[in-house]
Amino acid sequence: MKNLVLFGPPGAGKGTQSEKLIQKYGFVHISTGDLFRWHTKNDTPLGKKVKEIMNSGALVPDEITIAMLKEELDKNPQAKGFLFDGFPRTVPQAEALDHFMKENNSAIHFIVALDVTEEEVRTRIAKRRTTENRVDDEEEKLNKRITEYFTKTVHVLPFYDKQGRLNTVHGIGAVETIFEDICKVLDKN
Ligand code: AMP
Repeated sequence: MKNLVLFGPPGAGKGTQSEKLIQKYGFVHISTGDLFRWHTKNDTPLGKKVKEIMNSGALVPDEITIAMLKEELDKNPQAKGFLFDGFPRTVPQAEALDHFMKENNSAIHFIVALDVTEEEVRTRIAKRRTTENRVDDEEEKLNKRITEYFTKTVHVLPFYDKQGRLNTVHGIGAVETIFEDICKVLDKN
């Protein structure tokens, strides 16, 4: 079983690349953003708890996010491999993920960071706002989400890099080229 963490700022193309990777490799997709959106849309107790936080563009506390992730892992004991999209976003989340993998005699085999500049991310999200009705992408929240990434989430990169586990893929350019570059990382290991 091979597991992949796809890493990058909001609007880096994680969603698009995830779809292609799932098609090619058969990963079970775990997107914590999608899971939280599902909970808020269906007004579950968890959804009620995180709605305000999500709408502000801030990160949901680790305790809540890690518990939700664990539940999702437990739902998929037969998975051939997981693709983690939008998780981990903090060092404690990264540590929890390694711990859960170890518990299942598994590991995170690939960590791929899409390298996209802040300027490019802002342009892409502005474009996406016109096609998707995502409340968290409204203008004032966009700044917060990008700030959360560049102040908190970026710390996960050195965490993996120090262990020699980080693969960086240039995330600007044609979708197909970026996809091929990610596949090269997965296929060489
Ligand atoms: P995303 O679609 O991945 O950008 O996630 C949308 C929102 O869900 C984020 O702005 C956060 O409020 C919340 N969220 C998703 N994943 C995480 C995570 N790993 N840790 C904390 N909050 C998260």
